[in-house]
Amino acid sequence: MLADAAKQAGASLHTGAYLARCEQPSEKPWQIEIHKGKTRRSFEARVLVDATGRVAVLARKLGARKINYDRLVGVVGFYRRQQQPRPAPAHYTLVESIDDGWWYSASLPDGRLVAAYMTDADLRPPGSRISFDYLQKQIAHGIHTASNLHGYALESGPIISAANSARTDLIAGRNWLAVGDAAAAFDPLSSQGVLVALKSGLQAARAIEDHLSGNSASLQDYAMWVKKGFEKHLTIRDRFYKREQRWPTSVFWHRRQAQPPGI
Ligand SMILES: Cc1cc2nc3c(=O)[nH]c(=O)nc-3n(C[C@H](O)[C@H](O)[C@H](O)COP(=O)(O)OP(=O)(O)OC[C@H]3O[C@@H](n4cnc5c(N)ncnc54)[C@H](O)[C@@H]3O)c2cc1C
Repeated sequence: MLADAAKQAGASLHTGAYLARCEQPSEKPWQIEIHKGKTRRSFEARVLVDATGRVAVLARKLGARKINYDRLVGVVGFYRRQQQPRPAPAHYTLVESIDDGWWYSASLPDGRLVAAYMTDADLRPPGSRISFDYLQKQIAHGIHTASNLHGYALESGPIISAANSARTDLIAGRNWLAVGDAAAAFDPLSSQGVLVALKSGLQAARAIEDHLSGNSASLQDYAMWVKKGFEKHLTIRDRFYKREQRWPTSVFWHRRQAQPPGI
């Protein structure tokens, strides 16, 4: 929807393409090359925006590094209804803490449910695949999640997805900036990821406009705005995790009780 809106406003849209080259000869526009299959296209741009999510492809190409603040991952499954659920699944996002992490489950508009078990990368079984039995065991630890999933069967997944709080050390540089998760990725417990991605897009647009009008500080001011918002997020995140006191010997919860921000 957003891509279509951008197209209607005059943007040229290239989907399914990847960035092959970007260079900025001094005082000249960026020279960009994208590849899609065998097709190659070249562009010029005055400012680049990295909106590639957690992988932050462009920022990393330009020298930025990821700062990780924890090791959270999501083990995500999509569930389809097999029989009349009893009781009807909650129509709100359900968050339930268990001994080694927490569950997140929500109804999707097409009638399916998405459920994600959030734990630390080193606390889940090693390897790129998660067994059905492991997932079932974690569901059984969450009585409210199990009740939400009653009558549903796993349709796809589980897949493992990075969900840690992280930001790039460089959020903006000479004629470029990063937005959304590429700049700073929030803990899913906050449910702020999409909102912050949209807000940072709007803020970045203003910063770029100012930059092109001659304000040489505007991109760095934007980077500072992202950093401050992210620091506030870490403080609130820690406060919420510290409220869970039921499993003092659990490695997952102990890390969150004891850990100062930044590892
Ligand atoms: C398990 C889990 C649950 C979550 N739950 C919530 C929630 O309830 N509410 C919420 O608000 N947020 C939630 N989030 C966070 C939310 O998904 C993200 O914060 C949000 O999607 C960030 O948007 P984005 O546009 O910055 O990045 P993304 O949505 O990651 O989009 C990046 C895009 O860039 C593309 N891309 C990547 N590399 C390249 C490349 N080289 N070339 C071209 N394109 C590329 C990708 O294909 C993708 O389309 C959750 C995250 C996780 C992991």
